[in-house]
Amino acid sequence: MIGSSVVSRTRSWIVLCLGMLTIGAPAAFAADCPGHPDALGTSRTLVVDPREHPLIGTMQYRETLPLKDHEVVLTFDDGPLPKYSNQVLQILADECIKATFFIIGSQAKANPEGVRKLVAAGHTVGTHSMDHPLTFDRMPIDKAEAEINGGIAWTSAAMTDPTQLAPFFRIPGLMRAEGVENYLMSRGIQVWSADFPADDWRHVSSDRVYQLAIQRLEAKGKGILLLHDIQARTVAALPKIIRDLKARGYRIVHVVPATAERPATPTTTVEWLLHPPTETTPIARWPRVPNFVFTQTRTLPAPALADLNAQAEHQQLLPLRTMAQANVAATLPVPSRALFAIPEGSVEVLLSTTLSRRAATRLAMAAETSRAARDKAAQAKAAKGKAARLQGRRTAHAAPAAPDHAEQPKGTTTGAAPRGSASRSATSRPTRVASLKKRA
Ligand SMILES: [Zn+2]
Repeated sequence: MIGSSVVSRTRSWIVLCLGMLTIGAPAAFAADCPGHPDALGTSRTLVVDPREHPLIGTMQYRETLPLKDHEVVLTFDDGPLPKYSNQVLQILADECIKATFFIIGSQAKANPEGVRKLVAAGHTVGTHSMDHPLTFDRMPIDKAEAEINGGIAWTSAAMTDPTQLAPFFRIPGLMRAEGVENYLMSRGIQVWSADFPADDWRHVSSDRVYQLAIQRLEAKGKGILLLHDIQARTVAALPKIIRDLKARGYRIVHVVPATAERPATPTTTVEWLLHPPTETTPIARWPRVPNFVFTQTRTLPAPALADLNAQAEHQQLLPLRTMAQANVAATLPVPSRALFAIPEGSVEVLLSTTLSRRAATRLAMAAETSRAARDKAAQAKAAKGKAARLQGRRTAHAAPAAPDHAEQPKGTTTGAAPRGSASRSATSRPTRVASLKKRA
């Protein structure tokens, strides 16, 4: 692992040096974390172009960040709230970890210094609406736009340099809606869902937050972790999460947006899938088109009409097909009359081809009722002598509420036996449709 990280470090440094020009404080690696030799550090910086991959996070979208196995991106929502955000900042600083913060406009308005601290510490700062309404999935689009723009306005206003604001947005409560996503995409803003939460906004213990973070990360092997820097339980769980990440060999990735001076990290499309297709995925094993080597590449001449033995003036060019169809039709047997016999009580059901579904069902049910009355007499007669026999013939899975199941003649029903069909008389054999069952 050490050997391979040397290569990636060298590569990351190139990216980082570029990043420092616009990001501010430099990211650091574990070995470069002054006073914290055991720090987890930040292993690399990933530069993303929001326009190329506008929707990320497998909790809701097909794509997620192009992370390698055991790479993690930490994200914190809903701040800044000095009481807890400052503690989170200190924990991250002690581990030389760079994260992404999604700021609420009203929080930035109340605590602009908190936003400046995040930027000064080199973290990525995106936004999370103005007032965090949990109705993005159903609010009018102009209201959603106002929420988005309010958050952006107040967060960037808090910054010394507003260009430090990343075009990253996380929808409050992840209440996604297509209109909202389309609006954000049209503005070149990347919509961040997540790959797993740790439920730190719920009333759970900090230990539970730690457990969920690790469990869910282990289940996916990499991804974006969703946390909140406004919760005491998150502050309490974070050091433990980070220590465990280090022990389990996870690496922190810092994500920044591409700019004119800072091009996106080169990636392939499949890297944006959490689990790209592998050799065990059938589509990946589908044989490729072989590379034939042609021994003769000279083009063959097109056939002349005469070669087809056709007379263009009074003959169609493809007469064989027409004749073949005619021959097939001639050899088909005349259907038996029995095929068209309609079991009693089923005429109405057949009407459903011309009636509306509801009307057909109503008619069919009416027919059922009258037939059931007719059958009742016959059934009562037969039931006594049959009860014992029925008992023995019931199938193991027949529901007690529909004992007539076992009595159904083979092939006459989809399994919906109406009351009265127990009679064996031919007139009572029903032809069923599925809709009857539901409404019976
Ligand atoms: Zn939130």
